[in-house]
Amino acid sequence: MAQKRKKTAKKKPVAGRKPGISRTMKHGPPGGAGRGTDPVRVRKILVKLDEAYPAVTCALSHANPFQLLIATILSAQCTDERVNMVTPHLFEKYPDPKAFAYANPKDIENEIRSTGFFRNKTKSIIGASKKIVEEFHGEVPKTMEELLTLPGVARKTANVVLGSGFGIAAGVVVDTHVQRLSGRLDLSRNTDPKKIEQDLMQIIPQDRWILFSHQLIWHGRRICQARKPRCIECNLEPLCYSKDKTV
Ligand code: SF4
Repeated sequence: MAQKRKKTAKKKPVAGRKPGISRTMKHGPPGGAGRGTDPVRVRKILVKLDEAYPAVTCALSHANPFQLLIATILSAQCTDERVNMVTPHLFEKYPDPKAFAYANPKDIENEIRSTGFFRNKTKSIIGASKKIVEEFHGEVPKTMEELLTLPGVARKTANVVLGSGFGIAAGVVVDTHVQRLSGRLDLSRNTDPKKIEQDLMQIIPQDRWILFSHQLIWHGRRICQARKPRCIECNLEPLCYSKDKTV
């Protein structure tokens, strides 16, 4: 009888998870850290990232947190290079939140057309600027909660503004590169950016959150590219066991 009960309790394997690595192990309980998020391995990854990218920063040109907010809204589904081509003239024409808040939407649409999704981006820019002028005394708010009340601002944008605009580590920026590399480096097995961010916040020291996301973004652009990662040039290769590896 006892033998029968033991058989019923046996767990079924979970789809998409490697055999032998449980969810509990993945998050590294004391004395039982999983393979990908083992603290020693994570530290080695951080050291390698520091060697390769010692002082990387946000690639979006900006002179203040408000400009960074606008540039980040524009960067959705668009390259930073393209955004940097558009923003100098845009910021000259609209120098502050008030200028954007009461601008003619058609004029802004024309200015930002080449960044794609220009109608929605214009709505977000005008909506966020109005709220900043009317509810935050013309200043970009400095908390995650307040930033998330601005139209067009989700966690990724808020983390960019807080981290690169104010130097506040409230979370980890999870863009397409961070999402892909977190999977390849087995730092998270989630696909939802919010869950990936929570996973990364558990294993990366808070004083590294801002730099770490910049480093992964740069590594994703230069080496660990989506279609064909350049593993032969990657200094993380000895620590990486991704199925996408090309060496
Ligand atoms: S070894 Fe290849 S897949 Fe792994 S992190 Fe480096 S470039 Fe990416």
